[in-house]
Amino acid sequence: VGGGLKEPMENMMQMVIHSKRITEGVSRIDRILKQTEIPEEGTGNPESYDIAFEDVSFSYSENGPQAVKNVSFSLPKGTVTGIVGPSGGGKSTLAQLLLRFYEPQQGCIKIGGVNIGEIPPSRLTGLVSYVFQDSFLFHDTVENNIRMGNREAAFEALEQAAKSAGIHEVIMSLPKGYQTVIGEKDAYLSGGEKQRIAIARVFLKDTPIVILDEATAYADAENEAKIQQAFARLAQNKTVLIIAHRLKTVENANQILVLEEGELLAAGTHEELLHNCPQYGNMIAANERRDRWTIRKGVKTA
Ligand code: ADP
Ligand code: MG
Repeated sequence: VGGGLKEPMENMMQMVIHSKRITEGVSRIDRILKQTEIPEEGTGNPESYDIAFEDVSFSYSENGPQAVKNVSFSLPKGTVTGIVGPSGGGKSTLAQLLLRFYEPQQGCIKIGGVNIGEIPPSRLTGLVSYVFQDSFLFHDTVENNIRMGNREAAFEALEQAAKSAGIHEVIMSLPKGYQTVIGEKDAYLSGGEKQRIAIARVFLKDTPIVILDEATAYADAENEAKIQQAFARLAQNKTVLIIAHRLKTVENANQILVLEEGELLAAGTHEELLHNCPQYGNMIAANERRDRWTIRKGVKTA
């Protein structure tokens, strides 16, 4: 079934970008489209789902600055790892390297001991799924948007995925339920609701490895709680990497990586980092100050 990217590519063409950050969205789509440049070759077939970054360095342009510098870490299979750090620190770049949107100039990334450069793209797609920070949905029915995760799924499984993502009730309240076309009149969805539809898609796809890029802001506290619950359910029995903008999201992770200016400053649990990583302590303090400020001002978004 050569490629495996043909169908998503066709969908991509009909795509409606529901993102305020159009330019970022477009460059990202451009990168997804570029995946087709990767030939469908390689015989790597990982049988275990631990991940290892080994001395990985990457820059976006030949003589440009390194977005990731000599980074090494491992994600044991079935565990949850959070990545935190200031904006521009290289978090999204790490995730995109794992998806092979880009190839590192130095070092390698392995899944189950197999260099991802040796895994055919269609196989990699079946191993790793990605929930983007600004989830984009297609100008199509809710059902078809979720079904992208798994074409053959029975409707019951699809509905179950929506329930697990905490979005079933919202869908049922739309004019035509699962047959409502997203973006049409009276079918408005908030950013958080769109992200939950994207999460439902990943539930249905059910890959052993999941990357979640948390939205920077939620429309409201209810959305935030629902997305965090969905993340937790999705993480069960999977190897998960969460790019967290709210430190609370990953406080209970098995491991937290602190990334700053492309360098891995520290790795450990929340408790460990509080004791031995001053930058992490500062981030926690800044978050608490911000939360107090938001509550005082009655501002809903963070
Ligand atoms: P984070 O997700 O932690 O905010 P990123 O991984 O997005 O950080 O960015 C890391 C660095 O790489 C930043 O300096 C950013 O400006 C740069 N960068 C990100 N994407 C691109 C791109 N497509 N082209 C060139 N530089 C980029
Ligand atoms: Mg990012």
